[in-house]
Amino acid sequence: MKIHGLQKMTLLDYPGYVACTVFLGGCDFRCPYCHNFELACGAAQPVMDDEELFAFLKKRKGLLDGVAITGGEPCLHKDLPELLRGIRALGFRTKLDTNGYHPEMLRHVLDEGLVDYVAMDIKNSPAKYAETAGFRYFSVEESAAGSESGADTVDAAASGADTDAAVNSGTHTAAAPLTDENRSDADPALTASGTRTVSSPYTSGDLTNRILNLGKIKESISLLINGTVDYEFRTTVVKEFHTAEDFFEIGEMIRGAEHYYLQCFTDRDTVPYGNLHAPSVETLQKYWRIMLDFVPGTELRGINEPA
Ligand code: SF4
Repeated sequence: MKIHGLQKMTLLDYPGYVACTVFLGGCDFRCPYCHNFELACGAAQPVMDDEELFAFLKKRKGLLDGVAITGGEPCLHKDLPELLRGIRALGFRTKLDTNGYHPEMLRHVLDEGLVDYVAMDIKNSPAKYAETAGFRYFSVEESAAGSESGADTVDAAASGADTDAAVNSGTHTAAAPLTDENRSDADPALTASGTRTVSSPYTSGDLTNRILNLGKIKESISLLINGTVDYEFRTTVVKEFHTAEDFFEIGEMIRGAEHYYLQCFTDRDTVPYGNLHAPSVETLQKYWRIMLDFVPGTELRGINEPA
């Protein structure tokens, strides 16, 4: 398997453990606030293969506790179980980051006992999930989880997984309501009210031209809540995407979860969409209070919680 990045040591990516972070290329989401869009698009070049990673890990025995697998979207890779098996055979704990859109792979690695911890993104409330994940069409299809309609099928090449495809700086028409003109600060509702043309750093075409199958997200949520492996849900909060109403709905989606983290969007040069902002600390604290009613274990990541 191609490895697209390796952070040799981190105290942050695998809470409670000294770990390294392995980045896999490709993602089937196109979140406008993504920090790793070159990885997500498949533009980032591989830096090593799995054999070189294993050689590195052999030299880190006793120095590292675990390996965090992130991306991109690791669950796109059919070789993910093999990679995890190899890491665990060397005696390391494993943590998996996922967008939750591949419950079949998640089920596989959970059932085989290949992961010790899973961190799954919860992008937004059901009605806004697709737009927050960068799908071109904002409607949400709730067909049976795991079923693949033609519109929802993503091949590895289109997702950028394990390809060296260059990213086209193309332009596509998107129902993206993120403009100062149509966004009210008091209620930045993001209902798809029309279409406009945006310059996209992503490859356009089939990848964004899909309808989100929310059933897959719900199946992944259920797998984690009803499973035995430690996990967390987490939402990156973006001013233009999230409102208090969304958190009441997110709360219903993950009611019964043990751990949920609200993490604040931070702008960077690598973020593909340049007109997004962090919410205020007070707003984050308001969302935190809302979520406590659904998930008492809700925490603000990197921000002080109010007394
Ligand atoms: S799920 Fe979204 S934020 Fe995560 S890698 Fe994919 S595009 Fe980026």
